[in-house]
Amino acid sequence: MKKKIKDYGTARDYPSIEGTSKLSPYIKHGQIHVSTIWQKCNEIKSKGIGYRKYINELGWREFSHSLINYFPEFLKGNYRKEFDKFPWVRNEKFLKAWKSGMTGYPIVDAGMRELYETGWMHNRIRMVVGSFLVKHLRINWTEGEKHFRNCLLDFNKANNVAQWQWVAGCGADAAPYFRIFNPILQGEKFDKEGLYVKKWVPELNNVPKKFIHKPWEMELKYQEAIKTIIGKDYPKPIVIHEKARAAALEAFQSLKK
Ligand SMILES: Cc1cc2nc3c(=O)[nH]c(=O)nc-3n(C[C@H](O)[C@H](O)[C@H](O)COP(=O)(O)OP(=O)(O)OC[C@H]3O[C@@H](n4cnc5c(N)ncnc54)[C@H](O)[C@@H]3O)c2cc1C
Repeated sequence: MKKKIKDYGTARDYPSIEGTSKLSPYIKHGQIHVSTIWQKCNEIKSKGIGYRKYINELGWREFSHSLINYFPEFLKGNYRKEFDKFPWVRNEKFLKAWKSGMTGYPIVDAGMRELYETGWMHNRIRMVVGSFLVKHLRINWTEGEKHFRNCLLDFNKANNVAQWQWVAGCGADAAPYFRIFNPILQGEKFDKEGLYVKKWVPELNNVPKKFIHKPWEMELKYQEAIKTIIGKDYPKPIVIHEKARAAALEAFQSLKK
């Protein structure tokens, strides 16, 4: 709190730096109470933007818990009932590629591998991989919720279900379904140098930063020169962003009929 909270407002978005508190597993396992953190935050003298952003996040945690307290049906399925008729796709191959970090989108794969290897994943990347599952692959958010439940050290029902429903667009105060994260732009914005990707997807170590979030755009000759063949050393994208985005929007439109 003494050193990091000042920059939390901006640092929290960059997965290659330790810009967040990483307290969630300790909260989950009862090693520290949220009210203790809240109290400590209040003792900080200069309450700048970092402080405000941080206590906001604690507020989101409380909001999720409150939601399931007052609306326990939230845990059972879509809060917004119109999503019960959403045309989800069942595709075991895509689901497996997503879980194992083999989608061909480096920022998504880095996140999924970080989760599997450490039991934790950066919040921005949770949003990116979540959006990819429910919008690019159109796989039901409950599959993602189940996988996170199995892997996360900080798993708790309230946050996990509420956040997955937020990502899918079917929760209370959810991100609109038509807000579809572009995994290439998210990578270029929040992992500009590709450091996070290279940490978790080492087969892309030789790829220059210009291509690190879209390695399939490298010419074959260049791929050969850097010994990184896309489709052999690292997968080709399992879906094309523009097409997947258009299909997701069309599926969403069907809810309105
Ligand atoms: C799809 C998805 C699933 C998630 N599942 C869980 C989960 O099972 N358990 C969990 O604790 N968090 C979950 N989160 C929220 C968030 O990603 C984590 O709380 C955060 O990454 C934990 O890291 P930290 O302690 O460094 O957070 P910091 O940024 O340091 O935040 C401090 C604390 O605030 C709370 N917090 C932060 N962000 C959120 C948020 N978006 N919603 C609710 N509370 C938040 C957490 O208790 C966190 O420890 C999920 C987010 C998404 C997008």
